[in-house]
Amino acid sequence: MNVLELIDVTKTYPGDPPVWALRGIDLAVRQGEMLAIVGRSGSGKSTLLHVMGTLDTVTSGAVRIAGQDASRLDDRQLSALRARRIGFVFQQFFLLDGMSVLDNAADGLLYSGVPLRQRRAAARQALERVGLGHRLSHKPAQLSGGERQRVAIARAVVHRPAIILADEPTGNLDSASGASLLSLLGELNHEGATIAIITHDRDVAEATPRQVEIEDGRIVRDARRT
Ligand code: ADP
Ligand code: MG
Repeated sequence: MNVLELIDVTKTYPGDPPVWALRGIDLAVRQGEMLAIVGRSGSGKSTLLHVMGTLDTVTSGAVRIAGQDASRLDDRQLSALRARRIGFVFQQFFLLDGMSVLDNAADGLLYSGVPLRQRRAAARQALERVGLGHRLSHKPAQLSGGERQRVAIARAVVHRPAIILADEPTGNLDSASGASLLSLLGELNHEGATIAIITHDRDVAEATPRQVEIEDGRIVRDARRT
């Protein structure tokens, strides 16, 4: 079963001339897969992630998430789809500094209708999973970069999304923390999570079983390790 499917997706940004960021992307992600989308700066990776995550609309083509056609949904339905089905991880972590690690992770369930107590219980479990069970009441500013990104991962998985979309998740980490974060993502994948990592770093891409290479808004290679 495909958890995510892009069919002949294009995306242009207005300008004179317009920028063709995506020029006909066909991509299907199966449940339980882990893939890297790799390409140089400016090749269209972030645009692709935004479109995959329904954070941005396409110019033409279709995006299906868990079988639902994103173009048929209004903004409110799209936010609900994102909140239920997608876990985002970004290079800059985007944690809230005034809040504890526990509440930052619990935020991943904010739009789920789950009461606070249960959100915190689920967040505690997710934080234990990423090795931060001993940091629940810390503030993000008291953590290392690698720990902050683990909090972001706990927040991304706490609602058990259909797919995790990570945009340069190791981009702000030193190489040791980056490697350890990648092995955590690998473990989560072995436990069943579907994960797409966007990166310009070939070493990061090599760590995943499937590599999709994007160049100038087009997929130029899609290879699975056998
Ligand atoms: P990457 O993440 O691979 O560096 P992006 O998806 O950010 O690539 O950008 C792809 C292309 O689209 C680039 O040429 C970039 O300059 C352009 N682009 C990205 N965002 C915008 C925007 N909001 N407005 C205009 N052009 C943009
Ligand atoms: Mg980018």
